[in-house]
Amino acid sequence: KKRIVSGVQPTGSIHLGNYLGAIKNWIALQNTYETLFFIVDLHAITLPYDTKELSKATRDTAAIYLACGIDASKASVFVQSHVHAHVELMWLLSSATPIGWLNRMIQFKEKSRKAGDENVGVALLTYPVLMASDILLYQSDFVPVGEDQKQHLELTRELAERVNYLYGGRKWKKLGGRGGAIFKVPEPLIPPAGARVMSLTDGLSKMSKSAPSDQSRINLLDPKDVIANKIKRCKTDSFSALEFDNPERPECNNLLSVYQLVSGKTKEDVAKECQGLNWGSFKPLLTDALIEHLHPIQVSTSSFSFTRVRDS
Ligand code: ATP
Ligand code: MG
Repeated sequence: KKRIVSGVQPTGSIHLGNYLGAIKNWIALQNTYETLFFIVDLHAITLPYDTKELSKATRDTAAIYLACGIDASKASVFVQSHVHAHVELMWLLSSATPIGWLNRMIQFKEKSRKAGDENVGVALLTYPVLMASDILLYQSDFVPVGEDQKQHLELTRELAERVNYLYGGRKWKKLGGRGGAIFKVPEPLIPPAGARVMSLTDGLSKMSKSAPSDQSRINLLDPKDVIANKIKRCKTDSFSALEFDNPERPECNNLLSVYQLVSGKTKEDVAKECQGLNWGSFKPLLTDALIEHLHPIQVSTSSFSFTRVRDS
């Protein structure tokens, strides 16, 4: 069986972007592939954090995985820091990672700019090396991620090829080694829709856990009235009618795409249904579809509760 790994950081609460871009797509995969889904707590400490909140968010994230339909009898579900080999491999990979590769990473540039110098630890820069070790450790074939992780995955691939070149293959053979690749070079699996859910307050930035304003995202566990309020207040535009794929209307494209994914309709059907609508008539439709889609996940999440078994 081909192998798949993926994970979400337990920082803040899981939002619609994490769900539509990642977790929702994991469900079907667990039937066909060998799957490992972990909670990447070591990635969550790359920016300032509170230890109690981190350990609670780690357990809550596990509950959400199960509530969304991850089946622990099919998939391996675990906490990254419980498997020490992730960090051991990271150290070995670090020595093969040119620092220039890390300096080019967009996420590092964005997060370090927002965090301010005093809060930028070395780990924020070396984050992609830990991500590479999460993936390469298991000789993974595919990695389902949102669009924002494409660059990190590309770095993982380049790093695997570099290690294979430096220590495997022909060069290694010359030194008396057995030869052959050390790491499998993994492929990204980026969903055709939902790979980049945008902020509710700015259609040009991605929805994010670390964005300061809670109004910018729909959290998976937001109560009905909060969802209704966020949609009521979200950014729109003053064009008439609604349409997909107009680059001048990023908010419109985003909200229609979210509606498409949570209602389970096709893009064509949504385009037809919404072309004659205005914001006033579309927003209640979107709100109802969101509430209806998230309700079973919310009910199920509250039925899973994890107690603390060790200090993290
Ligand atoms: P942070 O702001 O702390 O980085 P995040 O919202 O980006 O949090 P992560 O834990 O970094 O969440 O990402 C988990 C998964 O969710 C990754 O596969 C990532 O690609 C995906 N993802 C994150 N944000 C979005 C989004 N807006 N749209 C689609 N997928 C997303
Ligand atoms: Mg992220």
